[in-house]
Amino acid sequence: MKSYNIAVIKGDGIGPEIVDEAIKVLDAACKGEDIELNYEEYLMGGCAYDATGNPLPQETIDGAKKSDAILFGAIGGEKWDTLDRHLRPESGLLRFRSELGVFANLRPTNVFDELLDASTIKPEVLKGVDLFVVRELTGGIYFGQPREKLEDMAYNTMVYTKEEIRRIAVVAFESAMKRRKEVCSVDKANVLEVSQLWRETVEEVALDYPEVKLSHMYVDNCAMQLVRNPRQFDVILTGNIFGDILSDEASMISGSIGLLPSASVGGLVGLFEPIHGSAPDIAGQGISNPIATVMSAAMMLRFALGEDKVANKIEKAVANVLRDGYRTKDLAEYGAKEVCSTTKMGSIIADYVAKI
Ligand code: NAD
Repeated sequence: MKSYNIAVIKGDGIGPEIVDEAIKVLDAACKGEDIELNYEEYLMGGCAYDATGNPLPQETIDGAKKSDAILFGAIGGEKWDTLDRHLRPESGLLRFRSELGVFANLRPTNVFDELLDASTIKPEVLKGVDLFVVRELTGGIYFGQPREKLEDMAYNTMVYTKEEIRRIAVVAFESAMKRRKEVCSVDKANVLEVSQLWRETVEEVALDYPEVKLSHMYVDNCAMQLVRNPRQFDVILTGNIFGDILSDEASMISGSIGLLPSASVGGLVGLFEPIHGSAPDIAGQGISNPIATVMSAAMMLRFALGEDKVANKIEKAVANVLRDGYRTKDLAEYGAKEVCSTTKMGSIIADYVAKI
């Protein structure tokens, strides 16, 4: 029996309800596979501030670092918006990511055929989209020094070292090797020196992956191509600020924010979370969509635990549940045979997983 320790951080708003459903599905998927998941819960975000006066208690950092993977819901809400910056839930999460040293953010975007109409983009443009954004997360202009805001001017600095570029490029090429073997590296090398180093370094890493086809694209063109013809992309490799914008753009291709998972890896322990926030407007009503968190749990199995077979089972079950017309309220207008509550959706996915 293989046994893994999972740090569970449910967070605020809809966090607890969606994480509970992901755990339900994980347990169903591991049953009969000789895999045991041991969950340990930790506080982070507004709920941690309320309980301890700190949005990121040391106990959470220590527990997470000792675990094999972290399953995360979402944090934040209006209640904590007026706190000093360093006490706000969002700053706890930023600090958490940097404590873990997770430098690679992975965001897949797939389009389910049954939900083609849910996107604002034409179905014929979307059909078959299956792309994977690899974004550098701990460097670039968000962290570069010097930075300062003065009375009449302000500045930030975009900095990347060769090593920072190399390690994120390796993640992208390794990801491509498990997919369609294409990497499109996105930069602004026509204007920025940092992008020129980015391009040269990515070319060097590519020499180790002769099977992978590498192309380069300027970020402004990529933003356009993502809505013009998103099917052309397999793996998109990019830096922090470009990736921030492009991955949000790519996420809208799928039509619902409630469907998309993410992983932050490369550091001590991987962090797996839906791309959406804590949705305080619908918290506690039983209408949130747990699928993004369920898919994040599948990513956790694949990228942190190496349990690809179980991950595949979960992803297939989600596709089958959507094919059969089960929808949460956010997708009720798109081919629903039955509109389910959050818990019902989790139970149905768990039932489907058990049958695979
Ligand atoms: P949000 O993603 O929480 O919500 C945006 C909209 O999408 C809302 O209408 C919400 O109801 C809907 N939505 C989100 N997830 C859904 C789901 N699973 N099912 C159905 N509908 C869903 O973004 P926001 O409203 O801008 O932010 C709310 C709070 O979340 C803020 O405090 C923000 O700081 C925080 N936040 C946290 C994270 C995180 O924890 N990683 C990320 C983004 C925002």
